[in-house]
Amino acid sequence: MNVYHLSMECFPVAKVGGLADVVGALPKYQNKIEGMDAKVVMPWYNKPFVHDHDFETVFHGYIHQGPNMLRVHVMKERGSVLGFDLFLVQIPGLLDRDNPYGYHDESYQFLAFQHAVLHWLTAMKIRPDVLHCHDYHTGLIPFMIENCPEFGVLKGVKTIGTIHNGEYQGQMKWEMLEFFPWINGNTDLRVLDWSGYINPLATMIKCCDAFNAVSGGYMEELYHSFKGLEQLVRQEHQKASGIINGIDTEVWDPKTDDYLDYNFGAENAQHGKWINKKELCEEYGLNPDLPLFGFIGRFAGEKGADLLPDIVWQSIQQTYGALNIIILGSGERHTEEKLSELSWHYSNFALDLGYKEYLSHKIYASADFLIMPSRVEPCGLNQMYAMRYGTVPIVRYTGGLRDTVQDISSGGAGINFGEATAADAVHAVKRALHIYHEKDLMERLVKTNMEFDFSWDKSAGNYVNLYSK
Ligand code: ADP
Repeated sequence: MNVYHLSMECFPVAKVGGLADVVGALPKYQNKIEGMDAKVVMPWYNKPFVHDHDFETVFHGYIHQGPNMLRVHVMKERGSVLGFDLFLVQIPGLLDRDNPYGYHDESYQFLAFQHAVLHWLTAMKIRPDVLHCHDYHTGLIPFMIENCPEFGVLKGVKTIGTIHNGEYQGQMKWEMLEFFPWINGNTDLRVLDWSGYINPLATMIKCCDAFNAVSGGYMEELYHSFKGLEQLVRQEHQKASGIINGIDTEVWDPKTDDYLDYNFGAENAQHGKWINKKELCEEYGLNPDLPLFGFIGRFAGEKGADLLPDIVWQSIQQTYGALNIIILGSGERHTEEKLSELSWHYSNFALDLGYKEYLSHKIYASADFLIMPSRVEPCGLNQMYAMRYGTVPIVRYTGGLRDTVQDISSGGAGINFGEATAADAVHAVKRALHIYHEKDLMERLVKTNMEFDFSWDKSAGNYVNLYSK
């Protein structure tokens, strides 16, 4: 089966968050399944990966976007070093930028990418079996195939839409219609509409053959809370499913991870984690004899990051400083500022503002606990990386966190809390402290967490079953 994953991110080419991890791993695991040929198509960004690898041009052409004619090149990475064929779509001046997101003309970027991909696929001799669209950035593909005469030969190609994050839907004004590929005159344009705007995520749900959310728990939540799309998702429920993300256990392996100061497995986790913790604590001026709590992620409302300053402050106050906290992330200014202030005041709180892949690995390996006070968590990968590295997850009971972390009181090896409030999170931190001081229990939790199987093997197969259906 010939499957193209269409995405704005893919690890290690360009990563902003979990989407990159998924698209960088899922096709690799799918290609281990007999008969599968999964590839990735994404924009060409000005990133080290594209300069460090060898590419050949496999297509060039032009597309019209409104009054503009855009030059398109498709480049294929020569060595298949990622375990799948990687195609990069280059549109000079529009896609060849430093980052996937954050530009004022994002909507044009995403539209042009989708148009260019279909233009290229239309010219190919072999038709894909499935186009797998990831998030709203590629959510107009099913509509375009169906309603733009230019892509007529692709009619009948099956489309799957995966919702990695329903908070972002890509709404745009109707004036943007001018920049779409030419649409058949008979098309009922209401299919693009949701609440008076063109809504690419809503359009994806309406037009694709099947869609899924990245966990069963999140799929259930979407029926009741989906930023206005609840009714739509109920209407289209026969096409819906939940497939939990996996993790790339080759990239995320404490036994071989080059970023760690000391590699370890479940059998020597106590010693291995201690060495890593000592190094990290030394670097950040923390006391390694205290339990270490970590947080890694975007400072955004969904992640409950605005609660972090209160969580840090109250945890330190209420435990009389009997713990260390380290936070890696960036985002909302207000949160960054408040956390910076706290880090100047408290010697047992370290803050690193920025995006640092190597440091995330070190924290997963060194921390005793990882805290996730998320308001919304479609799947969440951090808790799975933490567990693989012997770190006990403390998570708010929501979305994918519900599906992956069970509280020790109900037979699991993590800690759950109910509300996205600082009070609930701090209560969970205090529970964690008690556990930390019960040495045998803590050792058992570390080991149990490391032995969970979160690899992609099962979920990659679930996607293939969905394609087959
Ligand atoms: P998101 O909603 O941000 O995509 P996920 O849990 O699905 O959340 O994935 C987050 C991914 O991004 C993980 O691989 C995590 O380690 C990584 N990450 C998040 N913030 C940072 C950061 N500041 N530095 C390094 N890695 C980060």
